[in-house]
Amino acid sequence: MDKIELQKLRDLPIEGVAERLGLTVSHHKCLCPFHQDHHASMSFSVKRNTYRCFVCGASGGGPIDLVMRYLNKDFVDACRWLADEHNMILTENVKIEKCNNVAQGGLSVAGRCRCLTKDSNTSIEKEGYIPYSLQA
Ligand SMILES: [Zn+2]
Repeated sequence: MDKIELQKLRDLPIEGVAERLGLTVSHHKCLCPFHQDHHASMSFSVKRNTYRCFVCGASGGGPIDLVMRYLNKDFVDACRWLADEHNMILTENVKIEKCNNVAQGGLSVAGRCRCLTKDSNTSIEKEGYIPYSLQA
């Protein structure tokens, strides 16, 4: 998946994604799925496309993060789930390969490099992997 595809997933309205996850959103709020909630403690920022629970502190960067957390998926699976739900087709270029910086952990199967050096980031992007900075 490329940067544009990722950005499309990031731009999916957070409240719509929450509803697809089975949450009931009204007045930009819903029952928090991450703790025993009875008072709709979770609120959504439509402007920033983020969520936050004022009781348990759960908060995140956006739709991908919400799906990861709610469905207990990793980054790539959460992207796939979101894409499926919205009839989007992702370019799958994830493959197993070692990053140059093997000493730092190299690459995981999902195409995420565990080393945080800029050099390896650059080479990964060239190879078609997801750059670290683009992750949720
Ligand atoms: Zn909560």
